[in-house]
Order: sequence, then C-alpha cells, then structure tokens
Amino acid sequence: MQVVLEEESLRDGLQAESRLFSLTEKMEIVRLLAEAGVRRLQLGSFVNPRSAPQVANTDVLAALVRRQYPDLLCTALVLNEKGLERAVRSGLNHLSMSISVSDTHSLHNSGRPAAEALEAMAELIARATSEGLQVRAGLQCAFGCVTDGAIDEAIVLAAAARLAAAGASEINLADTTGMAGPHQITSMATKVRKAHPEVEVSLHLHDTRGLGLVNIYAGYEAGVRIFDVAAGGLGGCPFIPGATGNVATEDAAHLFQGMGVATGIDLTLFCRVVDYYEALLERRLPGRMNRALQGATTGKDACAS
Ligand SMILES: [Zn+2]
Repeated sequence: MQVVLEEESLRDGLQAESRLFSLTEKMEIVRLLAEAGVRRLQLGSFVNPRSAPQVANTDVLAALVRRQYPDLLCTALVLNEKGLERAVRSGLNHLSMSISVSDTHSLHNSGRPAAEALEAMAELIARATSEGLQVRAGLQCAFGCVTDGAIDEAIVLAAAARLAAAGASEINLADTTGMAGPHQITSMATKVRKAHPEVEVSLHLHDTRGLGLVNIYAGYEAGVRIFDVAAGGLGGCPFIPGATGNVATEDAAHLFQGMGVATGIDLTLFCRVVDYYEALLERRLPGRMNRALQGATTGKDACAS
C-alpha cells in the first residue's frame, strides 16, 4: 500500500449523529469496509458512555472485530486513564490519543488549558507505550480554531515534540475546524516530518470549507502517507448549516487512484458502505464519488436534481 486511508466513519463520523448505531449495524459496516479493502479503521472512543452514547459499545465492538478480522489495524480514541484501561481490556494494541492546541477548544473539550492537557496526554502516552501499546498522538485545531483564530506553528511543533518524546509513534495533525489551506498543510507537515523522522506524520482533515481533497494532495506532496477519511464524508455537526465532515473515503480513494497511488480500496465495493450508511441515516451524504458512480451505472446525469 502506498497510502493508508484510516476509516473514521465509526468514530468521528457517527459522533455527530443522533441515531444510535447498534453493534450488529457496526459489525455490518466493518464487514463492508473490510471487503472494500480498508485495512485501518478507528472503531470508536473509550469515553464516558453517558456523555457519548453513540460509542458506548466500543469495548464489545473492538473485541469482536479483533477476533473476526485479525488482519485489520484497529484503533480507538482514548482521552484518559479510564479509557486506557478499557482499551487494554478490549485487546486493542493501537490507540489514538488526542488533545487540542487551542486553549478555548481544549477547555471546552477536556476542561483544561492546552498546556495542561498536553502534559496529561504525554503521561498517558508514556504509560500506554510502557505497556507495549502503540499510540498515535493527535493535535486538534493544529491549523486554526474558530474561537482562538490562527494557531502559531511554533505551538504545534512544540506539542508534537513533547508527544513524540513521550513515545508516540505517529503524530496526527488535525484540521478539526476545516480551516487549513494547502500552503499551511505543506509547511506544517514538512516541518513536523523534518523534526521527527522517527515518527509517522498523518493528517486528519475536515472538508468544512471545501479544501479537504486539495489539502490531502498537499499533504501527499509533502510526504504524508496516512490520511483520516470517513465514508460518505460523515462527520461534522448536522445542526450547523453548511458544516461538513471528514473528507469522504471514496473521494480520497478516487484521487489517489487517478494519481496511480495504491490505497487498497475498491471504489465500487466501497460505495456499498456509503449506501448502507445512507439507508440507515435516511439521507444523502456529501461525498461525491458514490453519486458519480451511481450516475455512471444508471446512465442518469448525476448532477441533475
Ligand atoms: Zn475530526
């Protein structure tokens, strides 16, 4: 595989949805994803089930998927010690941990300013890696925050250095608010890669302002080879007009296919995942390629409304 697309629809995608997905439905999604060639996926979050009922079944889901699909690289989001204990019990050996580099966003999300959250996360990473787990450390709002505005590159670089030193094997730069542009992606990805050749650098991009695919392309050109994506472009908040989610997996797979870069994903098979989500959610998702391919097979103009 020349590029790894990490499927985030079950975590980032569904966290914005009010319809709760059952274990059976999630297992069907995993089956469809695996059949379409997805090899790495984020299954959910080990957070308080009362505040996030959508991911309350992550423990059972992780254990089941690990058993039935031993070849998949499965990961889940962990934000604190309790979450780490649950992750260990579920049998996952790859975890995603994440903090925000924006103070306001960090306070809102974790109840702590960014610097405090960074230290707590570094300790958690050190603990997880000492138990033999692999950790990807995410920096949310790395390219700007809707409330705090631009985030200084030096802050992001210092946070990346702290988390790499704590033992993270991958630094995930997240454009949580969809504010990044390609030049920012190029600059930041290049600097983090140069400063930490020992860690992987991955990108988590939201398509809120329509620059998702352009940013993926910029990241690829800057040497990034792992990108977070979600089927159909799931994610974002359905209550904010115009807000959209992650870059659609099928659109990213199509981009790389056109570039002759292998992702392992079969586009036609992948569209079954999008169809399944659309049937359960009873609405069309923003990703383009499912619609384009449907138009191609039915002979209808996919652009007609
Ligand atoms: Zn996200």
